[in-house]
Amino acid sequence: MNCHIRMPLLFVGHGNPMNVLDDNKYSHMWETIGQQLSPPKAIICMSAHWLTDGSYITSSIHPEMIYDFYGFPQELYDVQYPAPGDDKLANKISHSHSFIKPDAMRGYDHGAWSVLKRMFPKAEAPVLQLSIDYSHSPLAQYSLLQQLKVLRNEGILFIGSGNIVHNLALVSMDQKPYDWAIEFEAFCKKSIQNKNINTLLDYKKIGTIAHLSIPTDDHFRPLLNTLALSYEDEEPIFFNEGIDMGSVSMLSVMHK
Ligand code: ZN
Repeated sequence: MNCHIRMPLLFVGHGNPMNVLDDNKYSHMWETIGQQLSPPKAIICMSAHWLTDGSYITSSIHPEMIYDFYGFPQELYDVQYPAPGDDKLANKISHSHSFIKPDAMRGYDHGAWSVLKRMFPKAEAPVLQLSIDYSHSPLAQYSLLQQLKVLRNEGILFIGSGNIVHNLALVSMDQKPYDWAIEFEAFCKKSIQNKNINTLLDYKKIGTIAHLSIPTDDHFRPLLNTLALSYEDEEPIFFNEGIDMGSVSMLSVMHK
């Protein structure tokens, strides 16, 4: 039955929602990665834009599009990503891991569809979203999510979608990267390389560069949740390095 090879694991910096429409180095890399991966049996996306009290997984067969942003051009509100859901898979995961509850009402937010539309434009694989549980500490959620890593051996591609540095109060289109953003991004990269995940889980102790880079941790949590699904024998491969708009790191990482 489990004839699939282990699927890679992705954390993707999604940044500006316009990346789904723009032709830039980030969206081109999403396309390249999608072409290189073997087709997944299903995709489970952990987006910064679905924060809940408790853990939920989408179980709708035809999830709706959610346009969870304001003031963007109409063409962004016209984007469709018609990937099916998979209620059987959602219910199976919920039965095996009782901390996860199915949610048949929730659709796809832009943290998921902006990346997936460029990575898997045919929208053939079913997509489920797994929420970020804000009622748990990063460490508690990390421990729980480790149970799910075996699903990677069943053809399931997990994608965390957030940003390692995400300070929207300080973004500016013509702003060069802030020094603290560069420093925190480099710190995170090194910690991931050295498998020093505890330092990242306890990020408040890192100090000023962390406070400025993640004034709220909604976009950082998907990275931590993704790392919970990595295996000890895997090495991180980084892509899309660079800080956009001064204070949004696009740094992304694949484990395989
Ligand atoms: Zn976002």
